[in-house]
Amino acid sequence: MIFLDAAATGPVRREAIEAMWPYLTGQFGNPSSHHGLGESAAAGLRGAREEVAGVLGCRPGEVIFTAGGTEADNLAVKGIALARSSAEPGRRRVLISAVEHPAVQESAAYLQRRHGFDVDVVPVDAHGRVQPTVFASLLEKAVLEKAAPESGPVNPTGSAGLKGLSDVAMASVMYANNEVGTVQPIRELAAAAKAAGVLFHTDAVQAAGWLPVKVAELGVDALSLSGHKLGAPKGSGVLYLRGNVPAEPVLHGGGQERGARSGTENVAFAVAFATALRLVELERETAAARVGSLQKKFITEILRRIPGSRLTGHPTERLPTVASFCFPGTSGESVLLELERRSILCSSGSACAAGSDEPSAVLTAMGVRREVAQTAVRFSFSNSITEAELGTAADAVVGSLEAIGRLQPGR
Ligand code: PLP
Repeated sequence: MIFLDAAATGPVRREAIEAMWPYLTGQFGNPSSHHGLGESAAAGLRGAREEVAGVLGCRPGEVIFTAGGTEADNLAVKGIALARSSAEPGRRRVLISAVEHPAVQESAAYLQRRHGFDVDVVPVDAHGRVQPTVFASLLEKAVLEKAAPESGPVNPTGSAGLKGLSDVAMASVMYANNEVGTVQPIRELAAAAKAAGVLFHTDAVQAAGWLPVKVAELGVDALSLSGHKLGAPKGSGVLYLRGNVPAEPVLHGGGQERGARSGTENVAFAVAFATALRLVELERETAAARVGSLQKKFITEILRRIPGSRLTGHPTERLPTVASFCFPGTSGESVLLELERRSILCSSGSACAAGSDEPSAVLTAMGVRREVAQTAVRFSFSNSITEAELGTAADAVVGSLEAIGRLQPGR
């Protein structure tokens, strides 16, 4: 079996299992307990928080452990928007990109449905990238709309001058896309948001381990991570939330995790998460270069051997881990089935959209026609991928397309 679905999930690293094992067994204490067992759990949790903060370049108190990327995204989008709008009632708008993961999309939809927020969806270009000028103009539109009645025209290119005028509570644009791998110009987007006084969140679930995640360099106010994309267990995650950024809790209770996320802390998962994150960060540059060069070969091979096939996403600003194609004249699902018969596991679009007949919202947002979007197949790679495996996979793709009559055998 060749697993080419690493963007969906991966196995737990041995080091992460070894690091968390003591907290599942002997050191099983509740970190809030005032006895030795509780204190050793609290020390484990503190160490994990410091380790994550070291990778992100932030303070330990800015790390909130969550039960995964979805929860981190929910806390960021709902939590920040609700807290900001309650402190500044004029801020009732949220901006999200058109290619966000459902965890962000549905959080914004909830704010609209239940709390009457306006949600502006920032379009992407044909490569799936948000243009910073388009993003800035949406922030400015909000500023102008709000400022116009009382204060007359506002310099539309102004930056610092806009601060405090926007009616946008927060904006969320993912760092790298899970379906097509496109990397967003996060630094520029975060800077534009900052200039307009808008809090900026990025979903870095797919980016971590492959792109730099020092939060101060990115300029973000909040950043989501998911453990199971890094070699930690499913159901582990982190939200980085900058020191003074307010977030209304999604879970209420005993006030753990600086009040933003109540519930007895999952010390074992926090420790596993921190271990996995530290290791992928150590390996990052070497892994990105190696996997990136294998990805390039794979893409070239597929495009060469399958006339009419089309790579989706940005040609260069992309994760090394994702190669997603449309094979017009097929259905993505039938190609997947053929590939699985050949022991190649991959996915059509994202795992979250799997099972739905709707074409990928990411591809349609990029202007891909519905019938072409339905032919999408995503191959995604972990750091354990080898050149030989990708060679076998490329042969299997050709064999699959021959089997469903899309390619003449023996080409
Ligand atoms: N955000 C992105 C970009 C993802 O790819 C995923 C998982 O597929 C998530 C969020 C959700 O993370 P989790 O599965 O940990 O809830």
